[in-house]
Amino acid sequence: MERKRILTGDRPTGRLHLGHYVGSIANRVKLQDSYECFFIIADVHTLTTRPEKQDIEQIPEHVREMTLDYLACGIDPERSVIYLQSAVAEVYELTLYFEMLTTVPRLQRIPSLKDMLQSAHLSEMPLGLLGYPVLQAADILMPRAHLVPVGKDNEAHVELTREIARRFNYLYGEVFPVPDVMVGDVPTLVGTDGEAKMSKSLGNAILLSDDAATVRKKVFGMYTDPKRISADVPGTVEGNPVFVYHEIFNPNKSEVEELASRYRAGKVGDVEVKERLAAALNAFLDPIRERRHAFEERSGYVDEVVYEGTLAMREEARKTMAMVRSAMGVAAIWNRISRKAEQVRKKREKAASES
Ligand code: ATP
Ligand code: MG
Repeated sequence: MERKRILTGDRPTGRLHLGHYVGSIANRVKLQDSYECFFIIADVHTLTTRPEKQDIEQIPEHVREMTLDYLACGIDPERSVIYLQSAVAEVYELTLYFEMLTTVPRLQRIPSLKDMLQSAHLSEMPLGLLGYPVLQAADILMPRAHLVPVGKDNEAHVELTREIARRFNYLYGEVFPVPDVMVGDVPTLVGTDGEAKMSKSLGNAILLSDDAATVRKKVFGMYTDPKRISADVPGTVEGNPVFVYHEIFNPNKSEVEELASRYRAGKVGDVEVKERLAAALNAFLDPIRERRHAFEERSGYVDEVVYEGTLAMREEARKTMAMVRSAMGVAAIWNRISRKAEQVRKKREKAASES
């Protein structure tokens, strides 16, 4: 039986962090064998908020760093396709068709777009940014994906993709699956500063490639219970980022429980709690960092991975667009004209040669 398909990915804006890992990458690695996986390096998406030439010039380096992070986490190019969005031209065409099926008020109701507008310090909404989720729908439906593993902030975008798939199929016939969203075990990982979301742009991220000393330093700078001015004051564990991370990344559950109960009782200092967290995080990151170094050493390997993946995706995109154009009847418009014109031309040439 043919395997179902996954599409998901990230914008190449820098190295990946723990939030990306728990929100989406852990699921990707886990599902690699049961699904046919397509992982998009969504560089066209970066243009929605960063269209300047100097931003574009940084993309190749970010692509490299991000691909190294993928490989380090265990995404295996032998089993999964990793591809560069901007090199698969069909996505621009599919986006345009999908834009005809989407209303502006529908897009304006998507909350993440307002957040993106704000964090990009833009006063007015660019058309491309408003259309971000439509481009994302084209990404997801290009390989005709069934499942989309993403973080919580992307759930509303997949909902729009489902609507577009249904509307397309209703108007033109069944071409696309209606894909399901799969949110990670940790839907949104809190930042080191206690802000709701760990994010590169907010400077509150622990990167998968940070070295041990950097991780320790970031952990020691973490936001904890602000009411706890000394070690003997009872503290709050719930929602405290240090304990949130302990719960997720420290496999020693009894250590975490013991630290939490001493924290609640005012019987442990922040230093001890943080020291143990730094150790747990570094133990979690060590194998990822090791694999990353090994892949870094292999000259040209990352380029080869993205190159081969992109060629494979182009093949897939060609197939999808043939189905799309035929279902919509747009292929037939040109086909009829060209067939007729060729007949006329042939007739004329024949007449000319006979006279
Ligand atoms: P950042 O905001 O840190 O720059 P990003 O939001 O640009 O990262 P995206 O490319 O938008 O990264 O998202 C890539 C994937 O990672 C998405 O599925 C997104 O939901 C997920 N993700 C990003 N940050 C987090 C987080 N803090 N917790 C859970 N999932 C996250
Ligand atoms: Mg984002």
